[in-house]
Amino acid sequence: MTKTFEDLIKEVHEKGICQECGGCTSFCSSAEYHVIGFKDPYSPPLYINKDACLECGICYLLCPQTHALDEELRKKYHFSDFTTMPIGPFQEIYSCQATDRAFLDKGTDGGVVNSLINFLIERKQIDGAIVSKMDTAFSREATFADSKHDLLQASGTKLEIASHLDEIQKFSTYTHSIPKLNHYKFKKLAVVGTPCQIYTIKCMQELGVTPSENIEICLGLFCYENFFFDKSQLQKFENDYNIKLADIEKINIKEDVIFKLKSEEGREKIIHIPFNHLDKYMRAACHACNDFTNIYADLSFGGLGSPDKYTTVLVRTEKGKKIFKEAIDAGIIRCADLSEEKKKKMIELITHFSISKNKRKIEFMKNLT
Ligand SMILES: Cc1cc2nc3c(=O)[nH]c(=O)nc-3n(C[C@H](O)[C@H](O)[C@H](O)COP(=O)(O)OP(=O)(O)OC[C@H]3O[C@@H](n4cnc5c(N)ncnc54)[C@H](O)[C@@H]3O)c2cc1C
Ligand code: SF4
Ligand code: SF4
Ligand code: SF4
Repeated sequence: MTKTFEDLIKEVHEKGICQECGGCTSFCSSAEYHVIGFKDPYSPPLYINKDACLECGICYLLCPQTHALDEELRKKYHFSDFTTMPIGPFQEIYSCQATDRAFLDKGTDGGVVNSLINFLIERKQIDGAIVSKMDTAFSREATFADSKHDLLQASGTKLEIASHLDEIQKFSTYTHSIPKLNHYKFKKLAVVGTPCQIYTIKCMQELGVTPSENIEICLGLFCYENFFFDKSQLQKFENDYNIKLADIEKINIKEDVIFKLKSEEGREKIIHIPFNHLDKYMRAACHACNDFTNIYADLSFGGLGSPDKYTTVLVRTEKGKKIFKEAIDAGIIRCADLSEEKKKKMIELITHFSISKNKRKIEFMKNLT
């Protein structure tokens, strides 16, 4: 029997493992009738107009927590499993930075992701990209960027998940809700996302669900975990670490979480917080997630393994390889000269975090009823 949103509620929401990625709401076959939606951004989606549900099962199939299409995706992307291939298939590893000073200065690490998107827009290989606009240090707002100005506004890392998939749905042919998209026919899009978001997109592409055919390239971010702060937790966080949210200028995530604060009397203040100290702020659903390096992305990006102001890049697919090479050849991205020994060390470090994330999921799932 086809599993529907009713089953998602039982198997995902009621177990507390909904990642609030927005996949089910964005690509619901009956989306124009608002069958399902978010009441607020911090709890799983609900039935809003159940009578209009077609019981087609698309939402169930593309949810990253049901793993319904795992076998198909693994086959397609030549990925065996997390035990034998902890960081998934990749062709090459780099440590790079943007050559454009604006992207480098504003970027989370080396500013590589946004400068690459800008390059693709300028070459008209894409119309734009779904990125995440900085609001405050922990806030989230998915947005469409089609210019250098938009991209610079969306540089840097925001913790808490951004419901990018909802944003993609706005670009589908039948729900143009972003005014500027009504003025031209939207064809090719890049999407930046965490592993749970990219996984859902790959499921949609596997199922041929509109508008996933418009997604030209998936730029995946590494993600060990994400955080959820309500008002009282924010207060506690500020007190525990003697940090004022307003003073956070940048967040980097490498072997721990690094907060760069507004400089006091000309001195830059940097605070490192280990992941395990942040456990109480971790989103519950992240315990049930085992993909650290964004296995199904065309290119994966992280801070881990690279020095300050550099981004670690895993080149995975042929499409990713071609785009990345073109950007290097055009002088958009500068790569550090890595010895084989250094690459090996980077891969070991990334593998270590991937194994640790997979173990965390196994332990968590054991205790899940
Ligand atoms: C929630 C989260 C967790 C992460 N965890 C790790 C980690 O554990 N280890 C690690 O090595 N790296 C992690 N990263 C990736 C890292 O922080 C950088 O994003 C990556 O190295 C790219 O840096 P850059 O300077 O090249 O990117 P930039 O050029 O600065 O571009 C960053 C892009 O990411 C988008 N973005 C920012 N926040 C979000 C979000 N919440 N959801 C979707 N897109 C977003 C921005 O809009 C922008 O397009 C994480 C990123 C996020 C968003
Ligand atoms: S119409 Fe299909 S995709 Fe939408 S909620 Fe119902 S079963 Fe899920
Ligand atoms: S994880 Fe994503 S697709 Fe699955 S139920 Fe939650 S919001 Fe929907
Ligand atoms: S840890 Fe997994 S579920 Fe949580 S935000 Fe990252 S990719 Fe999504």
